[in-house]
Amino acid sequence: MSTVAKEVSFQAGEQIDHYIGGQRVAGKSGRTAPVYNPASGAQSAQVALASADEARAAIAAADAAFEGWANTTPLTRARVLFRFKALVEQNFDKMAELITREHGKTFSDAKGEVTRGLEVVEFACGIPHLLKGEHSMNVGGGVDSFSLMEPLGVVAGITPFNFPAMVPMWMYPIAIACGNTFVLKPSEKDPSAPLYMAELLKEAGLPDGVFNVLQGDKEAVDVLLEDPRVQAVSFVGSTPIAEYIYATGSANGKRVQALGGAKNHMVVMPDADMDQVVDALMGAAYGSAGERCMAISVAVPVGEETADELIRRLKPRVEALKIGDGMSRPEPEMGPLVTAEHAAKVRAYIDIGEQEGAELVVDGRGFDNDGQGFFLGGTLFDRVTDKMRIHAEEIFGPVLSVVRAGDFDEACRIINAHEFGNGTSIFTRDGDAARQYAKKIQVGMVGINVPIPVPMAFHSFGGWKRSRFGVLNAHGEEGVRFYTQLKTVTQRWPTGIRKGGEFVMPTMK
Ligand code: NAD
Repeated sequence: MSTVAKEVSFQAGEQIDHYIGGQRVAGKSGRTAPVYNPASGAQSAQVALASADEARAAIAAADAAFEGWANTTPLTRARVLFRFKALVEQNFDKMAELITREHGKTFSDAKGEVTRGLEVVEFACGIPHLLKGEHSMNVGGGVDSFSLMEPLGVVAGITPFNFPAMVPMWMYPIAIACGNTFVLKPSEKDPSAPLYMAELLKEAGLPDGVFNVLQGDKEAVDVLLEDPRVQAVSFVGSTPIAEYIYATGSANGKRVQALGGAKNHMVVMPDADMDQVVDALMGAAYGSAGERCMAISVAVPVGEETADELIRRLKPRVEALKIGDGMSRPEPEMGPLVTAEHAAKVRAYIDIGEQEGAELVVDGRGFDNDGQGFFLGGTLFDRVTDKMRIHAEEIFGPVLSVVRAGDFDEACRIINAHEFGNGTSIFTRDGDAARQYAKKIQVGMVGINVPIPVPMAFHSFGGWKRSRFGVLNAHGEEGVRFYTQLKTVTQRWPTGIRKGGEFVMPTMK
């Protein structure tokens, strides 16, 4: 653990504001959105929604800080991040509690989120090594060539509600380590953790204006997409918005990476270890109430016997799910959904599944937390077909659909035909099936006997098809490439021979 003794106090208060130029700035637009504790259903605060002028003020602060920050050494920037890492560790429980109280996930799950975010900070602490670039001695007689990985300038991040700490941490540690300055537009549903991170960064010694938090909605986002001072935009959220961000940001000449929605399938082969499969599915489908872009929302058992056995084992486990306030003790396995509106949307999908003729094995609609909070019980559908809306669309709740496949090839066809291609997994004891699966499946992140194959920080995160727009993935070396532009220098130091002007195309000899 860290040697930093300081606990950085943080009170969200009734109004959650912006963080611009190294200080909290009260919202003046007159527009706000309510923030809830999803476990009680009570409003806990309101968050400022930035006007276009406030968004421009955040960009201006980042722009003013850029030159100074870009001219610090990578080692200096890494040392700020080392101190930030220590401060997050020091204030770990506080950060996790802020997440649980606004998102609803369990406290342990929130701590897991912070850990996965910190791993990106740890990766970014190696930035002096990552920015070394390339060098070739003697590309021609007396001529050397080397590359510089230079920062872009002001870059923006727009992030979803389901990982209010981790997803921003996929972006800004690498962006600022590379010498950029950052404007984060977090989700308006759980805005406190990002604000707290801004305060910890300042405490770690980050100069004012290098990291800014702009609370808001589409009005703020549209300024980030249009303002010429913003050089690049990273987005994570739903597919329709990802597509909009990609199209608009690109049309305005910005570099854009936009990660979208998902529908992740787990193939269960007849030879799989069923105990492992059921444990894996319970965590992957119902953990965080299914509000994870890497949640498994579809199980694809191969063969009728495998499917019957899977349903027989899953049903009592789903019925026995422990559901409650994520801060309560003993800790539940699953908390509420993020808002009443989202819970109603997931509930409506269960209605749709019934109307479409899927077999409702466990119905979560009856779960009642004494009338408090945005809760829904675990839900299990059998005999879902690939034509149904509950298979085609992202539900983002504690609903697992079982789509039965006749054989391995049919399972692959169903998955490859799906609009999304974020994550998938296969459970089997057959190395050949696993190998074939990894090769032929059209999905960006593949698990073999691993239900949620989220790449570590030093690899890169990203899906295929309509789960990602843009070329480069989040974090890892792809993240470093996204936040830098290459400059290649070709140099010669003449040794006294002056040839005069040369009028033919230079070639290296
Ligand atoms: P969302 O798309 O509603 O919101 C994401 C961000 O976009 C928020 O900051 C929001 O304020 C902003 N936004 C919303 N509507 C906008 C609009 N019309 N114009 C401009 N900006 C707008 O997503 P969400 O509900 O917060 O998050 C859940 C979604 O995120 C799911 O689809 C999930 O799969 C996806 N997600 C994907 C990944 C991934 O890595 N692929 C990771 C996490 C979440």
